[in-house]
Amino acid sequence: MNAEELLRLKIRLLTEGVMVDEGEWAARRGGAGPVGAKYFIIPNGRPVGVPLRRGEQAQLFGAAPLEPTDNPDLWLYEQSIPLRVIPRPRFYDLTTKDGVPYRKIALLHGSETLATTAYQACRYWSNGLQCRFCTIPFSLYSGDTVLEKHPEQLAEVVQAAEAEGVIKNILITTGTPDSPDAGAKRLAGLVRAIRDVSRLPIGVQFEPPTELRFIEEVAAAGANAVGMHIESGDERIRQRMCPGKYRYGSLEMYRRAWDFALDFFGRGNVSTFVLYGLGEDIDRTLSFVADLAETGVLPVVTPLRPAPKSLLADFVPSYVGSIDTSMAFYKRVGEILFDNRLNPDETAAGCHKCGGCTPIQEAYDWAASRG
Ligand code: SF4
Repeated sequence: MNAEELLRLKIRLLTEGVMVDEGEWAARRGGAGPVGAKYFIIPNGRPVGVPLRRGEQAQLFGAAPLEPTDNPDLWLYEQSIPLRVIPRPRFYDLTTKDGVPYRKIALLHGSETLATTAYQACRYWSNGLQCRFCTIPFSLYSGDTVLEKHPEQLAEVVQAAEAEGVIKNILITTGTPDSPDAGAKRLAGLVRAIRDVSRLPIGVQFEPPTELRFIEEVAAAGANAVGMHIESGDERIRQRMCPGKYRYGSLEMYRRAWDFALDFFGRGNVSTFVLYGLGEDIDRTLSFVADLAETGVLPVVTPLRPAPKSLLADFVPSYVGSIDTSMAFYKRVGEILFDNRLNPDETAAGCHKCGGCTPIQEAYDWAASRG
């Protein structure tokens, strides 16, 4: 497949998802229950987290069929494109010294990123100002994780995953506690504990703290990359979709925090999510993306995935039914990244390094292929 075909494939998988027969899926994967999302490797060797859809949802999003082959780890998209299943890591079966299953502490994201949420709660849920796409409390309620990951626990999981040879970088995100550091101090503690046992690159994500020295503390602890996520380049959309974050953090506050962080982490290792599909103004978004890239902040432009139980569970993203518009949008994003020498592959860690939820690597590769 050429760069254009790979970009189209990645965008289609992320925005349309795939249509699967639930019975077939359960039989192959050895488990019942509702279908959700699953990581696969596409033909360029990179991961993609694909929404699995059925019935009306598959129709609404225009999902093409994904069918099994004789090889249980190989599926065929539209009867022609092979998608390889990422194997379940063995460390998921282990338990920490204090009795917590490793898979409740951290999970494999994509094909080589160990990801965890340091603190599984957020100050905006207590006053109804949570981001409309957020589901942070639900994995806690369902017992899939624990409220807070302790440094020793995470260090233990990192050691096991690294020894198994299935991770190359680490990502720590957090819900925002009600404190001036916005959770950065807890992250610094986790990074220090990992640094006692591993040299793998670590990316951290938190809201801009009110005092910038907390960013410095995380860098000094040994983190290699930081994400502080504005979520939208269209302020009107940010106000509607992220009311709590919008009230707390002005665009100016984010800009100050990114600038400050660039001195410690360097170009491409300071990033921010820019969601695609919330109904944002596309021209405004692209000019925001260009502004960010010029300063060295990597815009992780990511299609919104309406999550069950979130306030956007029934939301129809503005990209639905518009693959050609999405292609044109992401080609422009790719050109901006390429012109500003921001290759996600060359960054240390972060969601952009995994790339399972965003087509920015394929967009960059498409722009690079044109020279
Ligand atoms: S800041 Fe928004 S997305 Fe992040 S945990 Fe809080 S409510 Fe959820």
